Amino acid sequence: MMTSQKKPKEVFQQFGDPGRGYVGQYNLNNAFRRPVVLWEDKVLTVDIYAMPGTKMYGHIYCPQCARNGRQSLLTVREEAKEMRLEPDAMPARVAKQLGMSYEELARYLELDNVEGLRGGLSIGKIGCTWEEDPTARRSFGLATCQWSVVIDNNIARNVPR
Ligand SMILES: [Zn+2]
Repeated sequence: MMTSQKKPKEVFQQFGDPGRGYVGQYNLNNAFRRPVVLWEDKVLTVDIYAMPGTKMYGHIYCPQCARNGRQSLLTVREEAKEMRLEPDAMPARVAKQLGMSYEELARYLELDNVEGLRGGLSIGKIGCTWEEDPTARRSFGLATCQWSVVIDNNIARNVPR
């Protein structure tokens, strides 16, 4: 077991148990994935909805806003962004960068088993839209969130806004 690797400090989980609440008439196993994404030293999860016959979309909480105690939910749509989901892929790069086995990563994320890790995700440049929320602007003044990344095979890399 490797103990010298830097472990993530935080996990951003959003909608609780993926088995609840989004079933509808769809086969959840095919229509929903929660890929694991590594950004700096944080593990994020992105909720991806890929209903048959429709464009997929995803929800992600901005980790930069979370640092500042805000919850900014970003929606990413396939028609607006380059998005690629490989439903059955394991997050190999994330596990490697964290120095964790899939079992360790699944345990860290409080998943029942490693199957919950499945989901390879790449998204073209996305940025936090927090500045566009007029309610937040009233509450927090003129500050804006600078979070801007490209997600490449489950690794989020900072890019200029
Ligand atoms: Zn943000």
